Amino acid sequence: MGNNTLDSIAFKIKRCKKCPLCRSRIKAVAGEGKINARILILGESPGSEEDRVGVPFVGKAGRLLDELLLLANLKRKDIFITNLVKCHPQKNKDPKKNEILTCMNNYLFNQLEIIKPKIIITLGRYSSKYLLENFNIKFSSISKLHGKVKNIDKITIIPMYHPAYGLYNAKKLKIIKKDFSALKV
Ligand code: URA
Ligand code: SF4
Repeated sequence: MGNNTLDSIAFKIKRCKKCPLCRSRIKAVAGEGKINARILILGESPGSEEDRVGVPFVGKAGRLLDELLLLANLKRKDIFITNLVKCHPQKNKDPKKNEILTCMNNYLFNQLEIIKPKIIITLGRYSSKYLLENFNIKFSSISKLHGKVKNIDKITIIPMYHPAYGLYNAKKLKIIKKDFSALKV
C-alpha cells in the first residue's frame, strides 16, 4: 500500500471549508513526512510562510525546529509533521475551540490512524492541551508539562514549548533547547 489514504486526506484538506479558517488561508497545510513514522510532531497552525507554500514549519519557527530536531538526534525525513489546524489564522490569531475540534475530528485523527505514530511531540499549549484531553489526560499548563513524557496505552505524548516562543525570548529558548537535548526517543 502506498500513501493513497494520506494523500486522499490531504486532497480533502486542500479543498476544506468546514471551519471559518478556510477564509483566511492561501494554502491549507496537510502535513508532510514519512507515512509510517514512529514519531509525529504536532504544531499549532501554519504561519504565513507555510500558508504561501503549503508545507509545515518552513518559516522562522521551522528553521528553529530543524535545529531542535538535531539536538534530539531526529531527522526530518524520519518523522511526520503536521498541525492541530491545517489553515493559517488571520494575523496569527490563536485558533478557536470550534476550529480546533472541527479540524481534529475531520483530519488529524484520521492521519493518526494511518500513520500510527508511537510518539507524538506536541508543540505549544494548544496542541498539548487538545491532544492530551483527547486521551482523557488533564492539561494543567505548558509551563508545568513541557518536556514531561506521558505514556498512555500504546502511545507516548511529549508536550514541548512551541519553538516560536524561543524566537522572541532567550530564556525560553534555553529551556526549549534543553528539553529537546534531553529527549530520548
Ligand atoms: N508554527 C506552527 O505551529 N506550525 C507551522 O507549521 C509553522 C509554525
Ligand atoms: Fe478545514 Fe481544518 Fe482548514 Fe478548518 S482549519 S477549513 S477544518 S482544513
